[in-house]
Amino acid sequence: MSIFDTLESEVRSYCRSWPVVFDQAVGSTLSDEQGRQYLDFFAGAGALNYGHNNPLLKQPLLEYLAADRVVHSLDMNTVAKREFLETFEELVLRPRDLDYRVQFPGPAGNNAVEAALKLARKVTGREAVVNFTNAFHGMTLGALSVSGGSMKRGGAGIPLVHATPMPYDSYFDGQYPDFLYFERLLDDKGSGLNRPAAVIVETVQGEGGINTARFEWLAGLADLCRRHDILLIVDDVQMGCGRTGPFFSFEAAGITPDIVCLSKSIGGYGLPMALTLMRPDLDVWEPGEHNGTFRGVNPSFVTAKAALEHYWADDSLEKGTLAKGEQVGRALLELTQTVDGVEARGRGLARGLAFQRTELGNQVAAAAFERGLLVETSGPDSEVAKLMPPLTITDDELARGLDVFADAVRAVAA
Ligand SMILES: *Cc1c(COP(=O)(O)O)cnc(C)c1O
Repeated sequence: MSIFDTLESEVRSYCRSWPVVFDQAVGSTLSDEQGRQYLDFFAGAGALNYGHNNPLLKQPLLEYLAADRVVHSLDMNTVAKREFLETFEELVLRPRDLDYRVQFPGPAGNNAVEAALKLARKVTGREAVVNFTNAFHGMTLGALSVSGGSMKRGGAGIPLVHATPMPYDSYFDGQYPDFLYFERLLDDKGSGLNRPAAVIVETVQGEGGINTARFEWLAGLADLCRRHDILLIVDDVQMGCGRTGPFFSFEAAGITPDIVCLSKSIGGYGLPMALTLMRPDLDVWEPGEHNGTFRGVNPSFVTAKAALEHYWADDSLEKGTLAKGEQVGRALLELTQTVDGVEARGRGLARGLAFQRTELGNQVAAAAFERGLLVETSGPDSEVAKLMPPLTITDDELARGLDVFADAVRAVAA
């Protein structure tokens, strides 16, 4: 029995799928303590878009630490925070013509979601929030109330209230016009739906099974929100920071959300950081009304700034992600043509292969692990093998990982 079994809580999960002890990590490769290497198509669930220990981010981080500069600062002003904000404005907001205020809500994605929900309720004076089937927004109570998964909801221990789920894109396989039900409920005084403060949506549902909303569906949702005076929150915690190609996953849909949640890869290095972006007129917080101890993790500001400078000053990363995504898409399509009962999903480098026989998802992930490849599963029955390599993965590594994945699928499903 190891210390993990004797001391660590039963709640641990990823370590059960990958029962080794990891030690080193470079780029798209993790090594266990025996020195066995694993190609990483998991990328910290989207927190490692720029790979492990990326030298372009590590160098400024090491220099920052070596010079005894401020590490912890709550929301005090620091040089590192100033430089991050300046870089974020210059390289992310201004080129996209986005006018947002930036809130540091706490270190994790759930902090960004909680702040977004609280703010939407404060601004509108309404309680109800609309979310979507198979959504995932985090494990704190507010975020959980707008998430779908029944197992995780069950962990709340109290009623999860003030949220109403609506069908996500393609929930009925195109049998009904988009938003037929949602719009009817909004228009019907007898529907029982309180007027929502906000709608919260992921453009691609990472945990929900790589369900990919069409751009026209997203544009339709933004239009519906505008017509009904409902705030639109895009949770870009997993799909932002370039995962689907552009910096924000909603850019290609031509929409501008009222509030945006970012975390996972915004810190760049796998260090904790989150942002809640809001339209300036929505910034009605009183000073300190939402706060937290870890809102100024300066090492994250340093690596976040370096990531923006190295990867978002031009469109080469975005183009590379789209091209690599196409390559993954082609490999998955080939599998759909040779293996029965599978469906290819996704956009950019957020891809998945869904199995009709749901138990195959975990079996394929296990077969991939045996072959030295880390892939996670997602979806309500873990029926989707999820392929999310670092965006910085080399073409060679990507091709090798796709071969291993295809081999694992054939071994289990053919
Ligand atoms: C991971 C995730 C969250 C929660 O982030 P944590 O850092 O785990 O709290 C919220 N929304 C989405 C879409 C996520 O993928």
